[in-house]
Amino acid sequence: CGIVGYIGYREAYPIVIKGLKRLEYRGYDSAGVMLYDGKDLKLSKTKGKVVDLETKAAKEITTNGTIGIGHTRWATHGIPNDVNSHPHVSNSGDLVIIHNGIIENYAPLKIELIKRGYVFHSDTDTEVLVNLIEEIQINEKLKLGKAVQVALNQVVGAYAIAVFDKKNPDEIVVARLGSPLAIGIGEGEYFIASDASPFIEYTQNAVYLEDGEMANIRLHKPIKVRKIQDDSLVDPYIQELKM
Ligand code: GLU
Repeated sequence: CGIVGYIGYREAYPIVIKGLKRLEYRGYDSAGVMLYDGKDLKLSKTKGKVVDLETKAAKEITTNGTIGIGHTRWATHGIPNDVNSHPHVSNSGDLVIIHNGIIENYAPLKIELIKRGYVFHSDTDTEVLVNLIEEIQINEKLKLGKAVQVALNQVVGAYAIAVFDKKNPDEIVVARLGSPLAIGIGEGEYFIASDASPFIEYTQNAVYLEDGEMANIRLHKPIKVRKIQDDSLVDPYIQELKM
């Protein structure tokens, strides 16, 4: 399984697809992408291989948007099918998530959310997380990063996630606990991936998140890394990668 993301000035789709192919060695049963076209989220996802996703996306992804995320899924909760594939979108349609890992306490969280009116379309633990983030964001009037942090402190499990909020589209929030996550730092652009292979041709500067860390990745701003548990800021260590 793997995750890829791009926010910058280049067309995101080819970067994300090529990145997913580089992560295929990690194993997966389904693949999906979300592109942001400046107004709407464009999603395409399918059971099968990245080449199958490309065939489907050729019809569904009609934007050359410069923000995108992609995922290869190794199903843990919910069978491999198109609906259970990532990305997953929150009930409002604003938040979108990709996730590698497992949310172990998804069942009680899901029951709570259903009581509060949330509707679920997939059988995944991941769709519970994105709606939990949304519920916290709306109830507590929080920015995305804060809402993600509060949600992750209610979650038991393992994850590498990337979350995008179309209400505030200059930002991607990422977090890691038990699944790898690297951030590539370019000039006026950022990359996200499970390892550096999807972005090493674009930038050799990378920050590897440690377990229990999250980062706000904002266009034209330095990344902000903090500890999920206590909100303390971490000085990100920027590694220079060897080609
Ligand atoms: N637990 C999530 C799911 O089953 C993510 C699996 C993965 O790591 O790809 O959808």
